[in-house]
Amino acid sequence: MDDKRKVLLKGLPKIDDVIGLLEKNGIYAKASKDIVREACRQVVQNLRDQILSAADKTLPSVSPDAASAARSVEEIVAGLHRFKLKRLVNATGVILHTNLGRAPLCSEAVDRIVEVGRGYSNLEFDLIRGERGLRYDHVGGLICALTGAEDALIVNNNAAAVLLTLNTLAEHKEAIVSRGELIEIGGEFRIPDVMTKSNSILREVGTTNRTRLADYEKAIGPNTGVILKVHTSNYRIVGFTEEAELVPLVALGKHHGIPVFDDLGSGCLVDLAAFGLQHEPTVREVLGSGVDVVTFSGDKLLGGPQAGIIVGKKDIVARIKKNPLNRALRIDKFTLAALEATLMRYLAPGDAPRSLRSLKALTEPQGDVRKRARKLMGKLKRAGLSGLTYELKDSMAAAGGGSLPTEDIPSAVVAVKSAKMPASRMEARLRRAAVPVIVRVDENEILIDLRTVAEDEFGFVVDALRNLAASP
Ligand SMILES: *Cc1c(COP(=O)(O)O)cnc(C)c1O
Repeated sequence: MDDKRKVLLKGLPKIDDVIGLLEKNGIYAKASKDIVREACRQVVQNLRDQILSAADKTLPSVSPDAASAARSVEEIVAGLHRFKLKRLVNATGVILHTNLGRAPLCSEAVDRIVEVGRGYSNLEFDLIRGERGLRYDHVGGLICALTGAEDALIVNNNAAAVLLTLNTLAEHKEAIVSRGELIEIGGEFRIPDVMTKSNSILREVGTTNRTRLADYEKAIGPNTGVILKVHTSNYRIVGFTEEAELVPLVALGKHHGIPVFDDLGSGCLVDLAAFGLQHEPTVREVLGSGVDVVTFSGDKLLGGPQAGIIVGKKDIVARIKKNPLNRALRIDKFTLAALEATLMRYLAPGDAPRSLRSLKALTEPQGDVRKRARKLMGKLKRAGLSGLTYELKDSMAAAGGGSLPTEDIPSAVVAVKSAKMPASRMEARLRRAAVPVIVRVDENEILIDLRTVAEDEFGFVVDALRNLAASP
């Protein structure tokens, strides 16, 4: 090592000196001794690394002093106090964006989380009998009323619901599934992998594009545990295709005493065809065909919190409830509180698409989205942001979340162009705003899709663009 570096290293502030300064500045009101000491160690180590790795030309003439190291530590501590998980504006037009938290909750659900979270609750306490109760019972009745199921159970998410159901019905046994349904949902959820983890044996039948009832029939043997149908949520096979209908599949299962399990994925509670979208079989319809057990998500088309809902025949749900794995996958009280309020929105016809934001976004007429786009553009123009130009355009939004993959939903965007920066830079700047705004980039402009932006979020969009225009 050259002498200059040696001198610089020797001149680095001592950790105790940095701590002494911080103490005087009252750092312990914001972080504990352990946290402060570790941050100091990190800062001094970074300075040391910089001196060791810097090119000769960029070496400073003197070492940073204790005061500047102390400022770095204060920045680290301030960073620990800043929320990393934050609200943002989803201007992508992808309604159930898994990376952006899927379904926003309705206000009743949010209120219930606060109410139940503030104090104690009867989470597992039967208020009538004064004895231990089951956490699932609070929403079980609602789910059964809304789906026609005999019984229901809620777990952490739908992946957990599939794992638990397969493990209960087909541990060390075969689960028969069509080759066309061995799907990957994304984020490492692949049906064959989940089957392996559930200790069930995958028995593939049919071909990618065609699977007939006879294929299932031939595969049934003494070690069959379950017949599994999986909703091909995020893709469609089109053209020369065939899949076994549920009703004959159920009859086949019944004949051999084998339960039929349908992993619905999204799990719709209202008929989307009434809003001009493609028909998705509702949970009630699927159960009506006699399927023994159905699983679906709480935060996809349902529009509630992350949860996995298991519905079906009483004896089967009872077996699933008793599975010790259930304890590891159980739902927490906040989710239950939010789910209960969300499900209530489905009781009166027409309430859900009005009050659940994701359903509203999915079903809102394009004309209304255009109107909102015009409003936002007016607001932006009045804000007089320098260097920015705006244009209204029609575009296509999407359901997302592995729901309705072939459905393009007509939408409207405000396209924003900057005379001073490329669209990719605008996108990055909006992403880093105090309330981030997530947009699509299209060549030299950014697109703000109004299908997923509510009017009460306009202020955040204007603020983020104002900030960007003020310092390009
Ligand atoms: C989305 C999906 C899952 C996983 O559900 P999560 O709620 O994301 O855990 C499982 N199966 C199907 C068919 C799905 O579409």
